[in-house]
Amino acid sequence: MNTTLQGKVVLVTGASSGIGEATALALSAEGARVAVGARRADRLESLARKAPGEVLTLDLDVTDQESVRAAVASTVERFGALDVLVNNAGLMLSGPIADADTTEWTRMVETNLLGSMYTVHAALPHLLEGRGTVVQISSTSGRIVHAGGGVYAATKFGITAFSEALRQEVTTQGVRVVIVEPGFVATELVSHITDPDRREMARRLGASMRTLQPEDIANAVVYAIGQPEHVAVNEILVRPTDQT
Ligand code: NDP
Repeated sequence: MNTTLQGKVVLVTGASSGIGEATALALSAEGARVAVGARRADRLESLARKAPGEVLTLDLDVTDQESVRAAVASTVERFGALDVLVNNAGLMLSGPIADADTTEWTRMVETNLLGSMYTVHAALPHLLEGRGTVVQISSTSGRIVHAGGGVYAATKFGITAFSEALRQEVTTQGVRVVIVEPGFVATELVSHITDPDRREMARRLGASMRTLQPEDIANAVVYAIGQPEHVAVNEILVRPTDQT
């Protein structure tokens, strides 16, 4: 148990499945008070029942600025502070650029990039007040690009750019910015891909290796935010050992 997380107030976006859910549970097990946001309320309720500590469930659509502001306000109202934001909500709708359904591009940019920016914007006054931490769940796709992953990677490269500017703006005020870049994690992420060829490719890639589990990324988040306040772990790249 890392005592530095005891009593900390953490907001995890996209906590209804996968990495967000595992991270919320891990932080709860470390003694944090956790607010969890997503659109699937039933999944959040079942998370809250499993969590060892106090959990606040929030209806949250990160593409809607009002919803984001309300989630931050409810967190602060309930717990009296906001110490850590884990900006995790995201989706991956891979496919080639030619003939793409551009509404999928809009959804990815609005969720992965704008949504995470809105959340930082709403949370930042509280994080500055409490000298808190922002954890940005990016991806290996924030560092390297493959054909068929252009728009998803653009959102994750965008998160890196935004996060580095944010880091420079707030680090001397005591706010730490952490980018976590997972490789292949076994979650629901690939199930949303609408292009059947790309979905099958992603499924085969996952079946070809010992993938990461959501808990592996939760461990990285706990490590980063559990460091003493003078230590800023700014970037963590975690791949499955089997992933080239
Ligand atoms: P999941 O599909 O399991 O989880 C995605 C989460 O995002 C869900 O809780 C979903 O909740 C939430 N979400 C999606 N859209 C919105 C929205 N508009 N508002 C609020 N929440 C939303 O996938 P992962 O756990 O894998 O993904 C989590 C993050 O990890 C993403 O940012 C993804 O890009 C990143 N990542 C994942 C990797 C992997 O291999 N799985 C690798 C690298 C990065 P709901 O639908 O209930 O709103």
